[in-house]
Amino acid sequence: MRYFRFFLHAAAAVLIVHAGAGAAINVVTTTPDLAEFVRAVGGDQVEVYSINRGDRDPHYVEVRPSYMLKVRQADILFKIGMELDLWIDGIIDGSRNSELRVIDCSERIVPLEVPGFKADARHGDLHRFGNPHYWLDPDNVPFIIETITQALDEFDPEHATMYAENASAYLDALHKHREAWAPYLEQVRDKKIIFYHNTWPYFTKFAGLVAVEHVEPKPGIPPSPGHLRHLLETIDAGHIEIIAVEPYFDLKVPRMLAEKTGAKVVVVCPSVGGAPGVDSYAAMIEHNLRVLAGGTL
Ligand SMILES: [Zn+2]
Repeated sequence: MRYFRFFLHAAAAVLIVHAGAGAAINVVTTTPDLAEFVRAVGGDQVEVYSINRGDRDPHYVEVRPSYMLKVRQADILFKIGMELDLWIDGIIDGSRNSELRVIDCSERIVPLEVPGFKADARHGDLHRFGNPHYWLDPDNVPFIIETITQALDEFDPEHATMYAENASAYLDALHKHREAWAPYLEQVRDKKIIFYHNTWPYFTKFAGLVAVEHVEPKPGIPPSPGHLRHLLETIDAGHIEIIAVEPYFDLKVPRMLAEKTGAKVVVVCPSVGGAPGVDSYAAMIEHNLRVLAGGTL
């Protein structure tokens, strides 16, 4: 009997230790923006690791064994979907984690630029099912947060109330940033910009900007001499003042275009961590509005 009682105590102790140490849900995200959203909703119930960094191209991420290990230990993986982070499939396969829940954060998003024809490699193969850079419209964040909240609720229904409260607190706080964005939004409205990659249709829709052209003629396709001539003519004819480049592209071509036309090159961040000081989603939006407004000051 004494042994039995000891066993019961030991079992209870193990359960308590497990409940304490197991409080964190292990989460992997493909991008740092999703990591911010999951941390905001999950609070201290989640331990979050983002595979990509904000200063690296989210279309191309190396499949590394260390990422497979992270995914092997994960309970839930959140991805952007729409083929942006197609590289995660190889990492998931390599992780051999049969319990992993994979959540596609695009499921509530209304996609832009969905091709009306059957897309193939000739049309640029990076945005085959529509433009996947949807997180750059702050009006899409509530839909992403809703998908994340639902996934956490399903995994851990005990904390559903906390997740709901955290989600609305985050969205309220994000909404308050609009006051700080307002003066920049005034300045950038209808402004014509040349972007490097077609990262920005959701952002331009939000900000009222016009993406006149892209340095890449199609997403992922480098510019030909003919396309560069077309860009020079477009910049001159449209009096375009700004060429905006994501942090991971070579500045050689944008600088050449700027030198020949008098336009200015600025770095715009598609993700948290894309530049020093861009340490939150709200800071990222403000940074982009500020540098794009800067061209007319
Ligand atoms: Zn893209």
